[in-house]
Amino acid sequence: MTEIYDIAIIGGGITGTSVAYFLGNQRSVVLLEQEASLGYHATGRSAAEFTRRFHSDVTGRLTQASAAFMTSPPEGFSQVDLLRRRGNLLIAQAEKADYLRQVFEKEQANTPDGAAPVEFLSVELALEKMPFLDPDWVKGAFYDPDCWDVEVENLLQGYSRSSKKAGTEFRQSAALISARREGSNWILETAGGELRARTVVNAAGAWADPVAQMCGASPLGIIPHRRTAISVKVPGYDTAEMPEVNEIDEVFYFKSDAGQLMVSPADETPVAPHDAWPEELDIAYAAHYLSECTTLEVNHVAHSWAGLRTFAADRLPVIGFSGQAEGLFWLAGVGGYGIQTSPAVGQIAAALLTGAELPIDVVNAGVTAAIFSPSRFES
Ligand SMILES: Cc1cc2nc3c(=O)[nH]c(=O)nc-3n(C[C@H](O)[C@H](O)[C@H](O)COP(=O)(O)OP(=O)(O)OC[C@H]3O[C@@H](n4cnc5c(N)ncnc54)[C@H](O)[C@@H]3O)c2cc1C
Repeated sequence: MTEIYDIAIIGGGITGTSVAYFLGNQRSVVLLEQEASLGYHATGRSAAEFTRRFHSDVTGRLTQASAAFMTSPPEGFSQVDLLRRRGNLLIAQAEKADYLRQVFEKEQANTPDGAAPVEFLSVELALEKMPFLDPDWVKGAFYDPDCWDVEVENLLQGYSRSSKKAGTEFRQSAALISARREGSNWILETAGGELRARTVVNAAGAWADPVAQMCGASPLGIIPHRRTAISVKVPGYDTAEMPEVNEIDEVFYFKSDAGQLMVSPADETPVAPHDAWPEELDIAYAAHYLSECTTLEVNHVAHSWAGLRTFAADRLPVIGFSGQAEGLFWLAGVGGYGIQTSPAVGQIAAALLTGAELPIDVVNAGVTAAIFSPSRFES
């Protein structure tokens, strides 16, 4: 008789591995990933940033609820610190200088708990932090010290290694192909064979709607949006200690990445789920923005890539049992903040799956689970 797992998690990105981790040994769990390796899609292509500022109130709360885990993960979770301070330099050209001042004042008045206050900078001071900015372009700047690089690979490995130790079985190259209900169980046909589970957790990222359809639920309109990044060399500069730079409306951003500079034109093009690649035009935009606001000559793009940031219509995660398909649990739509919010999102999902109370960090951040319910999109 085949083993019946309590839970089959579909998707081995940061979302699927985080819920596996927070479920620990409370249930028998199998995680199915269609690719040969974990984190191949959105998770492996992010800008690896953790910041409590410049996003919606709810995302800010989820980030706040994730901060304690990120700064002090449990003993043995990671060999290295998960967060490394980078700082963020917000810049504007002349026509947005007044607007930048307004954003600064708003941020100054609303410093999140535990975050360092923002600092207004003269152009000279901004250039001290980032010497290749073009003073003819930059006419306003402020600095947010509370911006951190996330060690994404260590976070992903920490979740997966610890959940394997707790008994979760990981199956890679095991795409879910079809799902049908037999009594109170799912029969799941995968590229790696058939298995049975009581509950399916849909953590399939860009593929969340198609996976739900396989399980007999309607799509909720969870849409992948492509975002592009390029990597360029900056000869003569050591970028390692330089802050991230964001145009004040996030028209573009750039930051140090493995000795080079990662630049994104902050594009958000709705697409069908697929293995994303960058379009020439977006690569050109990224190079153009960098050469506009700096004195660098961007003649050569060393590397370029794209990934999918997947959003529900209200841009909030979808976490909870389906009201349409028994035994289906949604865990999707983590959008552009799925890495930094993964501790809170994973804990909320694990609590809902096991019927436990929400953990204290989540409660203290003012997060309730009801706001994430898939019922808001189910007819
Ligand atoms: C350029 C870029 C910059 C970003 N910057 C940041 C940032 O600075 N900070 C931040 O917090 N977030 C950032 N993000 C967002 C972040 O990367 C995502 O929110 C997060 O990685 C989503 O994780 P996920 O596990 O939900 O999705 P994914 O990592 O895409 O994982 C879903 C997995 O499901 C698998 N799957 C799908 N269908 C099936 C199936 N049928 N069977 C089995 N497996 C299946 C896929 O293969 C995939 O591995 C960025 C994203 C991009 C693209």
